[in-house]
Order: sequence, then structure tokens, then C-alpha cells
Amino acid sequence: MGKGSTSRRPPALIVEESAARSVQRGHPWVYREAILGDLTQHPTGTTAELRRPDGTFLARALLDPRSPLAARVLTLDPRDTNEEEIVLRRLRAAISLRSQLLADQETTAYRLSNGEGDGLPGMVIDRYERWSVLRADGAAALAFAERHGPRIEKALTEVGVTSVTLRPRDGTPRAWLGEEAPASVIALEHGMKMHVDLLHGQKTGAFLDQRENRRRVRGLAKGRRTLNLFSYAGGFSVAAALGGALEVTSVDIASSGHGTAQHTFRANGLDPGAHRFVTADVFAFLNAALQRKERWDLVICDPPSFAPNERARTRAMVTYRRLHEACLAVLSPGGILCAASCSSHITPDDFLTTIPNSPGLRVAEIHGQPADHPVTPAWIEGRYLKFVVCLLTGT
Ligand code: SAH
Repeated sequence: MGKGSTSRRPPALIVEESAARSVQRGHPWVYREAILGDLTQHPTGTTAELRRPDGTFLARALLDPRSPLAARVLTLDPRDTNEEEIVLRRLRAAISLRSQLLADQETTAYRLSNGEGDGLPGMVIDRYERWSVLRADGAAALAFAERHGPRIEKALTEVGVTSVTLRPRDGTPRAWLGEEAPASVIALEHGMKMHVDLLHGQKTGAFLDQRENRRRVRGLAKGRRTLNLFSYAGGFSVAAALGGALEVTSVDIASSGHGTAQHTFRANGLDPGAHRFVTADVFAFLNAALQRKERWDLVICDPPSFAPNERARTRAMVTYRRLHEACLAVLSPGGILCAASCSSHITPDDFLTTIPNSPGLRVAEIHGQPADHPVTPAWIEGRYLKFVVCLLTGT
């Protein structure tokens, strides 16, 4: 420990003018090409001082010399020199924000730190009851998290979290701080129980960003035959069933999520035998359903990101449009389509253009991510989630 302290003078690097302005406005990232000079001499995760072209202080940031995203801003305040103190302060502020905006005994699964959105570069921490998973976004973020283990443990212990599983973005998950987490934990989301696999589940085990949208689906589902596409561990499926859906069909190309989904149905007092779990490619499934004229009254479509980077954007737009056309083709009159996208490269306005202008189709609600996924105003990439509720009216 102590590597993050101030005793050694940090390297100073000049950032090109327009990138410097963007950092000044609050954007948390600097790309490799905007930093002058060779970075490779600096170890990954080093805290460096970024300077404007005129040599004045701009920010203190974590370096990731081998990544295109070469610097992640830690602070814009030149007086903020004690990294250990910054981390503890930011963690406590993040935790306090959740207790103000999310105070709810019925929700024990939520995001404690949203990385840059909480001033903690690349450090995502999701809480599931007394267990937590830290997801480090890249090598610098991993080094940063590892050297601040004691601060993380302290802040989390203060609010009753007793375990941290570490999940590097490109590495093997492992038990890290406190007690080792069990293979599967049950956590609550607005009273709905969820089985979560902290070690092997996607991301940190569950997609907590959809919590309020799952609640919305619960409110919309009564009496509706429901189709949940890209269902993974069945969060939307269980929400719909709890809301009184007649029958829920969950479709995913991977069968592993269906097992977890069935556990979650049972944990909520629902009989999975009354519902359908289909392992199939969504496009092929929709095609076949259309052929046999099967229809649903509520369709939820929450695919993986089709545009993981800017280059994939145009193709992704075409895929979203094709997918939404296929969803509408199996929607009954009076039906509801909930269409989601988790790609930061597709703006909400772009996303709306992928919903076909079918006769009688109305966009009724546009939602995003919940309060435990905050962003700074300038961090547009952090505002990635879109969830659009459309009604197919009679006219
Ligand atoms: N809606 C889920 C999260 C979806 S994650 C939730 O609320 O938790 C994306 C899922 O899409 C993954 O489980 C993945 O297996 C599945 N998937 C990816 N491509 C697919 C395809 N072509 N057809 C069906 N499922 C697919």
C-alpha cells in the first residue's frame, strides 16, 4: 500500500488543447493520440499530472499506456493530492447518494459505484445483499482498485458489505476482500427475488441498470401473453410473471440463463412449468413465430450491444431496425413493445429512428438508466441505456 500517496512526484504530461478543454468541461477520458510524448515508460495505473499546452495544471489522472483510452481523470483540483483520501471520500459520497435516492428495504441489489459517474475511474461496484462485485474496466482501473483495497474494504464494511469479488474486464474473476461469496446469491429488486451468479454471470452477475424498467414491465404485464427476447437470467420474464402475465416465453441463444431464470421463478413462488424457455437465435425464433402466426401482447427486446464501438454504428442501426420490424410483426393489436439498447454509440434520438413508423404505433415512454448509475454532465458515453415503450393502437 501507499503507492497512491503523494510522496513521489507524479509524471507530468501535456494534453492537446481540444482534449484539455473537454476534460475541463468534465469529460473523464483522454485518448492516446491527445497526449504528447511516449507513455510506455510509465507503469499501468500510474497517477500522472495532465497539463495544458501552456504547462498549467489540468488534472490528475490514471495512465493506461497500452490502451487507446490512455488517461482516466481522477481530479481537476490541483490541491486534491492525497489519492487515498480522494478514494475514500468518493466511495462514501457514492454510498450516501444511493441511500438518498434508493432508500428501499425491498431493493438489495444495486450499483454502489458507477466508475467515472462517481469519480472513481473504471471502478464499478455492484452490491447484492452483503456481497459485492467490483468490475475493473481495463488494466489501469484494475491497478487502481487493487492499490485501494483497504479504502474499498473500509467504506463497504461501514454499510454492511462483507465480501468483494474482483472481476477484471479481461481476466479471471476471483474472491478478493472479506468472505468468499457463495456460487449463487439471492438479492431483492423492488421485492422481486433474483438468483445471481457473481463469479460467472454476465457483467457483475446481473444487469442492474434495467431495474426500474423491469418494474415498469411488471406494471404493464397483467393479462398479457409476454415474449422476452434476449432473456438471459430472466429478470424481465419474472417481473412480467409477477405482474400477472398470462404466459411468458423467454428466448436466449444460451441455455445457461434459463436454468437461473427457472430458479428465480421458483424463488418468487411462480411455477416455471407454466412458462416457456426457448434456446434459439432471436431472429430465427421471430421468423418461425411469424410463419406459424403466433402473436404476443407484450414483447420485451433487450439485446446485447450491437455497436460496441463507433465503427459498428451504421451496421448496428440496421440490425436494430430489422429486429424491431420483426418484433412488431409478432405483436397483437393493442400490444406493447419495450425496446432497449445498451450501446453508448446510439443516441436516444438515433434509437427512435430504428422503430418503424407502423400505422397506429405510438412511442409512449422513453426511459434510461436508474439513479444508481449516475453520470457527470459531460460523460455522454456513460448515458448508454435506452428503454422505449411503444403501443400498437387500433388506428
Ligand atoms: N435482458 C437481459 C440482459 C440481456 S444480455 C436482462 O435483463 O438481464 C444479452 C443476452 O442476449 C445474452 O444472454 C446473450 O446470450 C443473448 N444473445 C445474444 N445474441 C443473441 C441472439 N442472436 N439470439 C438470442 N439471444 C442472444
